[in-house]
Amino acid sequence: MVREELSSKSISIVEVGPRDGFQNVRKEIPTGDKVKIIDLLSAAGLRSIEATSFTHPKWIPQLKDAAEVIRRITKPPGVVFSALIPNEKGLDRAIENGLEEVVFVVSASEALNRENFNKSTWESLAELSSIAEKARRNGVQLRGAIAASFGCPFEGSVSVERVIEVAEAFRNAGVSAVTLADTTGMAHPLQVKELLSVLLSQLSDLPIALHFHDTRRIGLVNVYSAWQAGAKIFESSIAGLGGCPYAPGAPGNVATESLVYMFHKMGVETGVNLDRLVECSQITQELVSDRRPDQGQG
Ligand code: MG
Repeated sequence: MVREELSSKSISIVEVGPRDGFQNVRKEIPTGDKVKIIDLLSAAGLRSIEATSFTHPKWIPQLKDAAEVIRRITKPPGVVFSALIPNEKGLDRAIENGLEEVVFVVSASEALNRENFNKSTWESLAELSSIAEKARRNGVQLRGAIAASFGCPFEGSVSVERVIEVAEAFRNAGVSAVTLADTTGMAHPLQVKELLSVLLSQLSDLPIALHFHDTRRIGLVNVYSAWQAGAKIFESSIAGLGGCPYAPGAPGNVATESLVYMFHKMGVETGVNLDRLVECSQITQELVSDRRPDQGQG
């Protein structure tokens, strides 16, 4: 997470393509190509990059080279590289590999949490305190992410109260920020505005990040709505990589280059060089291009 104070005329971006994007690419991306893309992202000015996931390769074989990726990437000063961790074992591997920040995901929807992690939301949150304690002892920053914050493919709507409960649990565990993830691209702009107006007033001390998908081509509209509601941290993916396992063929995450273009046009700084980012997007698309036709691009 970018640590400096943000002025009203700037936002910060968490680039999630190397984790959220690569894990949805069926083709095996050579480790060297992953390293090249991550290096281009940091060279373009991105200061927070979710670089991989320390999840068992049985579940996400696409990221089985997590440790090697972290070892080989260039680490310019001021750039924070993070990894997703599904459990304490993932945290141990992140610590061994010198990560500064980890992300722990809990779903606001009971059904999606069981589907993804084979346990209830509250069982996941029960693990949180030991993970947070170990991360703190090891000087690793912990970020929370709430999947299905705007709806669940199994349960349908997810209540604002439920999202707040999970966000409060994360805050009590001492996380540096919480990401509201629109895991299956169900959010709409008025819902975004309403959820954020409640969250930003009730949990005003907790930095909130937004993770939107372009499943229904309204990802950027949701970004704009969140920004108008006061949000300043956005997660996005280079070339719009990513996808939704419940909507085959749907576009992936909001594309970082589209998000940067929009904010720059509005006079909002991102710290990113758009020309270099667009070049990085083109190279990324070439390197991952022989994906199966049902993989979204966005
Ligand atoms: Mg995503």
